[in-house]
Amino acid sequence: MGKPTGFMEYARELPPHRSAKLRVLDWNEFHEHLPDARLRQQGARCMDCGVPFCQSACPVHNIIPEWNDLVYKDQWKAALHRLRQTNNFPEFTGRVCPAPCEGSCVLGINEPPVTIKNIEQAIIDRAWENGWVIPREPKNRTGKKVAVIGSGPAGLAAADQLNQAGHQVTVWERADRIGGLLMYGIPNMKLDKKLVVERRVKLMEQEGVQFVVNAHVGKDIDIHKLLHEFDAMILACGSAKPRDLPVAGRRLKGIHFAMEFLHANTKNLLDARDGVLTDGYHISARDKNVIVIGGGDTGNDCIGTAMRHGCRGLVNFELLAQPPATRAPDNPWPQWPRIYRVDYGHEEVRARFGDDPRQFCIMTKEFLGDSDGQVSAVRTIQVAWSKDNGKITPRETPGTEKVWPANLILLALGFLGPEETLADQLGLQTDPRTNFKAEYGKFATSVEGVFAAGDCRRGQSLVVWAIHEGRGAARECDRYLMGATNLP
Ligand SMILES: Cc1cc2nc3c(=O)[nH]c(=O)nc-3n(C[C@H](O)[C@H](O)[C@H](O)COP(=O)(O)OP(=O)(O)OC[C@H]3O[C@@H](n4cnc5c(N)ncnc54)[C@H](O)[C@@H]3O)c2cc1C
Ligand code: SF4
Repeated sequence: MGKPTGFMEYARELPPHRSAKLRVLDWNEFHEHLPDARLRQQGARCMDCGVPFCQSACPVHNIIPEWNDLVYKDQWKAALHRLRQTNNFPEFTGRVCPAPCEGSCVLGINEPPVTIKNIEQAIIDRAWENGWVIPREPKNRTGKKVAVIGSGPAGLAAADQLNQAGHQVTVWERADRIGGLLMYGIPNMKLDKKLVVERRVKLMEQEGVQFVVNAHVGKDIDIHKLLHEFDAMILACGSAKPRDLPVAGRRLKGIHFAMEFLHANTKNLLDARDGVLTDGYHISARDKNVIVIGGGDTGNDCIGTAMRHGCRGLVNFELLAQPPATRAPDNPWPQWPRIYRVDYGHEEVRARFGDDPRQFCIMTKEFLGDSDGQVSAVRTIQVAWSKDNGKITPRETPGTEKVWPANLILLALGFLGPEETLADQLGLQTDPRTNFKAEYGKFATSVEGVFAAGDCRRGQSLVVWAIHEGRGAARECDRYLMGATNLP
């Protein structure tokens, strides 16, 4: 324990985000860093608990108390060493992880928890700035070849681990850039593409991982040919099928799935940066009344993106009730606190339009259009949630119908599983939710030598879970190839 009285002396402190009014004028990250001395005080708040619940709650089991202590003692290189033992990409999680660790921090029982995620980001950012993150080429090669399908955090983590184990890894990606949702889902202001994502991909290339873009396996590339050419395969294709909202008027123009909007936006920005001519795939929110249907990270990223386009107004519908300000009695520590939070997009709408964009307990009944077939409004009704035979269900409240003007609707209602093509072509078993069936911990699918990791196996989830599963699938794949494994 770095400083026994740290948790009593220092209050929780996070670096301020850039001003919400100003940051919507650009696409740069909104994160800032705390000055060193103050960050080290945050590390000193860690109590080095006998049972570190934070570490169990972190899906990659980061050895959090150790690096908190090392940061407090100004031993940054040692902190980096601990961090890299468990997490391949702390620069991603340090920026985008919702930090389940902090929800389980013991200090959080009666005080604000330790700023774990921010300390994680500070360690890895400092390491990159100081040139401590350098290519590590494996000393020996095994002669085995592994194909990884999909380059999101699960595919990247699997590739990184297998490459370090000495296998020759090729990552196949259908998009034109590597990174999965790190590249084309999460927007630049939350996770910088050049400074953070591309930097890591470049390092992995230097370490020997091969990346092939514009390679849609199962469509442009024959999966059976790949199976024949490679000794093993890891499927890390994500969960890309969006949930629809099949109400009247759904086919009107101006209604898009969130990912169409977000992908087009980032592609447009990066193509412009790289001098590639754009071809009108940009869906603009400029001067429009935007309604984002669905909360969560995806909905919030749509809000932040629409704000940067210069939308005229923004409303966010949420079917569920507003969460409480503090933990409810049925949501005790160390569970993840299901409480009301203000994310960066909400902050930005508040700063520009005065009010929070969220409307809770709203059910969409119909999209209304003009004579050109363009959406012009949404009709909704208020719902009340009640328990029916132990199941919580929404009931419409009579007389609460409302029509909201809108020219752009973004559907952020979650994802239903991976696309069927690869499962069909491989004859792969799927689970009842259409995810690739592979037991957690073993990650082996029903086809020999084929493993599955990340959202395509567990369903829509988090970057940190994808990294954890990519590491696990790599370990099991290595065991399959070599008969034993040293991978964690
Ligand atoms: C908009 C949005 C914002 C999010 N924000 C956060 C956040 O802030 N924090 C957080 O922790 N999580 C967030 N998530 C969730 C997180 O991004 C995912 O859980 C994570 O990226 C899953 O990783 P993955 O590697 O399994 O899949 P993905 O990241 O989806 O990557 C899968 C890749 O496989 C490729 N692919 C699919 N099929 C094929 C094929 N047949 N051939 C070749 N390539 C193929 C896809 O093009 C894609 O690049 C967000 C999700 C979305 C949609
Ligand atoms: S990866 Fe996420 S859960 Fe783990 S320590 Fe970092 S912020 Fe916490």
